[in-house]
Amino acid sequence: MQIRDRYAPSPTGLQHIGGVRTALFNYLFAHSKEAHESRDAAFILRLEDTDRTRFDAAFVQNLYDTFAWLGIHWDEGPDVGGQYAPYIQSERLELYKRYILELLDADKAYYCFCSPERLETIRLEREASRSGETGYDRHCRSIPKEEAAARVASGQPCVIRLKIPLDGITGFYDRLLGHIEWKNRDVNPDPVLLKSDGFPTYHLANVVDDHLMGITHVLRAQEWLSSTPLHVIIYAGFGWTPPEFCHLPMVMGQDGKKLSKRHGATGVDEFRRQGYLGEALVNYVAFLGASYEEGKDVYTLAELAACFSLDKLNKAPAVFDYKKLEWYNAAYIRVKTNEELAQLALPFAVEAGIFEKVGKERKQGSAGIEPDAEQKRIFVEAMSLVKERVSFLTEIPAKVAYLFSEPPLPDASEFFPKKADIHAFSKTITLLTMGKDLVSRMAAMTDADAEAFIKTEAEKAGVKLGDLMMPLRVAVTGARVSPPLFGSLRLLGAEASALRVEKALAKLTAEPV
Ligand code: GLU
Repeated sequence: MQIRDRYAPSPTGLQHIGGVRTALFNYLFAHSKEAHESRDAAFILRLEDTDRTRFDAAFVQNLYDTFAWLGIHWDEGPDVGGQYAPYIQSERLELYKRYILELLDADKAYYCFCSPERLETIRLEREASRSGETGYDRHCRSIPKEEAAARVASGQPCVIRLKIPLDGITGFYDRLLGHIEWKNRDVNPDPVLLKSDGFPTYHLANVVDDHLMGITHVLRAQEWLSSTPLHVIIYAGFGWTPPEFCHLPMVMGQDGKKLSKRHGATGVDEFRRQGYLGEALVNYVAFLGASYEEGKDVYTLAELAACFSLDKLNKAPAVFDYKKLEWYNAAYIRVKTNEELAQLALPFAVEAGIFEKVGKERKQGSAGIEPDAEQKRIFVEAMSLVKERVSFLTEIPAKVAYLFSEPPLPDASEFFPKKADIHAFSKTITLLTMGKDLVSRMAAMTDADAEAFIKTEAEKAGVKLGDLMMPLRVAVTGARVSPPLFGSLRLLGAEASALRVEKALAKLTAEPV
């Protein structure tokens, strides 16, 4: 089957989960098995920037940044070109003007001269009468063609409206929802196709471009379903065959309401700032309304595409589960190499200001300081200590900060078991003194050798390994819970580690509990 599909956002807002899901499904479909049978399958980006009042170039930039970060690329689009360029609607105005003339000639559209004030009056009257009638009252539909042409020629402001048939039925087949029919009298009467500023509305530009760009499948959010009969009427007006439609299942929050800010982050930027990985987001979003093979959660984009099929879409709304997304994120973090993860986490660490000179206490205002080569090396290696322990990139800086600057020493009571007595206290001093000696002898040992060494020494001294490790951990990392101790000691080096233990000992002796 021939497949050309598209993502056609209006740059009137930041990219959010809904848009990403639409783009992703179009991408996957154009790379699916079905598409492989198609000679020149393509996924296209088209900017629908006809709403000039809400347009902002920053939203276009956000669109490019978002999809670059997610790793989703199009085959044709404003930035990559293609045989149907331009792919920005504001650069195609002449085309729409040409095509609307065809509709006027065929008597499928007409000029409307109603002023905004008149339209507002009708709206209010219709609302007040509770007649159930909405929209335009077709006032200008009966103006004879010649009269309309003369008024246009005299420079009277006007728009062009679509003639929705007064009776009959408009039907179309939706790949997910099946056959859908609308009574024409229930379709929004005579929507504007060309505005007085010469810009087309969404309906005209969308249909003309889908046709001219050879779009075979329109996969879009269900909120566009009510526009589809109108589009089908426009296709019929031109005598064109509509593409196949597939309105994707809604995306809801856990409470069954449409996903929105109330539920949590929805903007892709927010997810990025919160320490999500683009791949994790893509993998999770791919499941919003679609099924793949059973028993597998983590897929590459290519694997998703290979399994994607419109026949495996779910009719029921998809529920956005932040916990599940978090699970994906942690899973993706876990399988990164140290280098990959360090690269992803580094901007967060720089922002958090963890890179001061090793051995010094962290100062205020160190945000933005880049690591030197040695710190960078330690940061990369530290990834293996934390990758199993975090769900978000944003958690990494705080978890590894103690490797770059001395953590503030916690209260003396943190160094020994909660129900400490004077006996436990003096025992801790003894253990730490022993720990300091061991730590300074551990230089250049692998983590496994260091562990074996400390175990043997603990046995020899007749102390429990845990009792020896706990105060050592607090002294070196500043906390009772920390990344693995032996890896930490290795990265800090014997000398710096021993110094920390010494400082802890000094503190404990100076301020006994
Ligand atoms: N410009 C519309 C949007 O912002 C496109 C809808 C469609 O895919 O037809 O989503």
